[in-house]
Formats: sequence, structure tokens, C-alpha cells
Amino acid sequence: MSTQAMLTQEELALREKVQDFVASVPRQLLLDMDADKVKFPKEFLEEAGKRGLLGLRFDPQWEGAGLPWTSELVALEEVGVLGTSLTCLYSLISIVGEAIHVFGTDEQKERFLKPMIRGELTAAEALTEPRGGSDFFAATTRARREGDTFYLTGQKRFVVGAEGADVILVYGKIEGIEDPKKAMTAFLVERGPGVEVRHVYGLMGTRGGGTGRLVFRNAPVPLSNVLGGEAGVGRGTAVFHQMMIPERMTSAGGALGMGRAAIEIAARYADRRRAFGQKIRRFEGVSFKIADSLTLLDAARALNYAVARTIESDASAGKVRRLVSEAKKFSTDAAWKVTNHAMQILGGIGYTNVFPVERLLRDTRLITIWTGTNEIMDLVIQHEFYKEFGTLPPRGRDVEADALGADLPGEKIYNEPGEDA
Ligand SMILES: Cc1cc2nc3c(=O)[nH]c(=O)nc-3n(C[C@H](O)[C@H](O)[C@H](O)COP(=O)(O)OP(=O)(O)OC[C@H]3O[C@@H](n4cnc5c(N)ncnc54)[C@H](O)[C@@H]3O)c2cc1C
Repeated sequence: MSTQAMLTQEELALREKVQDFVASVPRQLLLDMDADKVKFPKEFLEEAGKRGLLGLRFDPQWEGAGLPWTSELVALEEVGVLGTSLTCLYSLISIVGEAIHVFGTDEQKERFLKPMIRGELTAAEALTEPRGGSDFFAATTRARREGDTFYLTGQKRFVVGAEGADVILVYGKIEGIEDPKKAMTAFLVERGPGVEVRHVYGLMGTRGGGTGRLVFRNAPVPLSNVLGGEAGVGRGTAVFHQMMIPERMTSAGGALGMGRAAIEIAARYADRRRAFGQKIRRFEGVSFKIADSLTLLDAARALNYAVARTIESDASAGKVRRLVSEAKKFSTDAAWKVTNHAMQILGGIGYTNVFPVERLLRDTRLITIWTGTNEIMDLVIQHEFYKEFGTLPPRGRDVEADALGADLPGEKIYNEPGEDA
């Protein structure tokens, strides 16, 4: 891996530790999950917790490892080789954990975050609704307050861990507050009356994670389960923006493991399989796909590490949002392209279950859609770019003047209001 030089000794040691853990995951578990025989493999997280591999970025006060984002990305790439479902379960501790770590009360950190990091408590997040996921603030799940109890009503769709997770971070709007951004609130919902799993989806891939629809009918949630307690009422917008960092960075990190696993299988195959009297890797049509894949994965990894450092810098929230979106989009698009290259290199056998490339391909198809589609990433990237660009004074050389016709202002027509053509 050419980006290895960017890692510390500790990160290289962590990588080996995660590789050991990943190697210990039973093959049968992966097969049973893909066959929908397993709904939510808690034992996977229990083992990760026992090995100290959960909550890597969180404060040691809450039993985290206090490591930087790059370390978590190193771990995520290794877990990523297991495919989307297990990587998602692993990531949910980072995603829901982030919300609790940053916004939770100390009591909530004791009750939820610590056991999550130990692998004893599993978590899910519920943002998407049947009416749409991209337009988050149009969500219709609502909470009616009566004293210190909130009654949650609404539906959430495609929730990994709808079946199986112990605690679900659910976004809902407080009734009576008009502005959706001020009404949005994050609730830590435990299973109980009024919380129902409606439908567990038949998925193209990413199976075995208990993905389903959740229905809340006047589900009572005590104030002590509003993320942040009383101060957290109406604070869901800030929680959402903070959570989108791990939401998207975990997708970016895991994607590289999937792409890497697929292309390494294909590279080995191409070095053995023969056609027209020679190894198929001797054909440019094959070996250039390997070159393209390696370049994409290395570029994505380097971008991810750079973004990881930016998250921990004093960069503005808007700059972080833009770069995180770039990392998610680029890494997931790269993984999708790379798994397709891998399948093409394998020829017909790649399309069968003799090799796991077809499963990785089904898995990587999802990651360009979830945690915000890659179109929504484009929306964020250009939006944050223009927000900053418009405020910046011209920098360095005026390149626009480096054209023969640059001093023909009458030819620079923008059709702006009041402009004469
Ligand atoms: C297997 C699986 C697991 C999932 N896990 C979870 C989970 O655990 N928790 C959770 O909350 N959600 C989860 N999701 C939901 C996922 O994040 C959403 O499906 C995704 O955000 C898109 O929302 P949508 O499906 O409602 O599509 P829509 O929002 O309806 O979008 C449909 C299409 O329109 C495009 N579009 C929408 N708005 C714009 C725009 N402004 N500009 C350009 N294009 C636009 C989208 O890019 C997309 O192509 C999961 C989904 C799946 C399939």
C-alpha cells in the first residue's frame, strides 16, 4: 500500500490487530448473513469490543482509545474486507457513539457509550423515512411533549439494526415548533411499547444486518433519553451535522477495504489464468484495469487521510463538510469501479458465487447510495465551495487576464440584470 508512509508506527500496529480480528471472523457467518440466515450478529461486536477495537476515537474516560481519525480509517479499511454489513455494524458504534460523545450527558455516556465501546450494547440510527431520505429536514416523525415524557410518532425506513440493535438514535421534530431546524431532536430510543419493527427488507446485498422499517406509535421516551437531556431538546440539527462526519467517513474508509479485497482476488487470478497461451495479466485490457484500480484506491486513501487531519484541524465546519463529502463520494465511487474491474477480470466465474467478488459488488453498489447519496455529496461540495469562494479575495496571479482577448470587456457577457448586450 503506497500510502503506508502516511501512517504512524501505532497505526501500523493497530492495522495488524484489526487484521487479526478480521481473520478470526468465521467464514460461515459471512455466508449465513448473505443467505439471510442471521439477522444481527451481536457476537461480532462483542468480539471487537473485547479486543478494544470499538470507539477508537473516543475519550479514554469513556473507555475509548483516544486515537485520531486516521487510526479509525486504518481500522475501517481492514474491517471493510468483510463487506458492507459487518462494516456498517462496526461503524454504527462510531456514528451513534459520536452523537453521544459530543452531545450526550455524562449519565448517557455511562449508560450507552461505555457499553457500546465494550461491545455489550448495540446501536442503530434512524434518519430515513418512507417519504424520503435526502431531504432530511422534511422528516415527519414528531414528538409530543407531556412533562418529562416525549411521545414519538412516525416511521423510519431502511434502518440497519431495526431488528436487533439495543438502542436506536431516532430523529423527530418537537410538536409546536414551526422551524424544522429548531424542532429537530435526537432521541435514544430503547425497545418498548409503541416501537415496532414492520418489515425486514429483501436486499440486493448488505444482508444480515436486520435492516427494516421502524414504526413509532406514541412511543414514550423519557427526557433522560433525549440526547443531551433538556439542553438537547431542539438541538437535533447540530447532532445531525456532527454525526454526518463519521456517517460519511466510515463509508469512505470501509469502501477501500471492499475494493482492495476484490482487486487483490482479481490480480491473483490474472496471474494464474491463461488465455491465448499466456497469463491474462499480460493483456493490457486486464493489467490496465489493475493499474486503474490501484490508482483509484491509493488516491482515495490519500484523500481520506488528508480529510481525517482536516476534521481535527481548526478548519471551518463548512470546509470539513465539503471535504468529508468529497471523501465519501470519491471512495465509494472508486470502490464501485474497482469491484466492477475485478469482476470483469475474472470473466464468467466472477459472476458466480465461486468467488466473493459478486457479493462485494452487490455490497459496494449500496455505498454510493447510503449515508447521503453521491448526488447529495455533490450538492454539499459545490454549496460549501461557493459559500467560501464568494468570500475569498482574489489570490496570487490573475489567471483570467492571461488571454489575448482578455481586455475586450464587451465580449464578456454574463446577462446579469441591468447589463447591456
Ligand atoms: C440497505 C440500506 C441500509 C440503510 N441504512 C440506513 C440506516 O441505518 N439508517 C438510515 O437512516 N438510513 C439508512 N438507509 C437509507 C439511505 O441513507 C437512503 O436510502 C438514502 O439517503 C437515499 O434516500 P432515499 O432512498 O429516500 O432516496 P431519495 O431521497 O428519494 O432520493 C432518490 C434519488 O433522488 C436523488 N436526489 C434527491 N434529492 C436530490 C437533490 N437535491 N439533488 C440531486 N439528486 C437528488 C438521490 O440522489 C437519489 O438518486 C439505508 C438504505 C439502504 C438501502
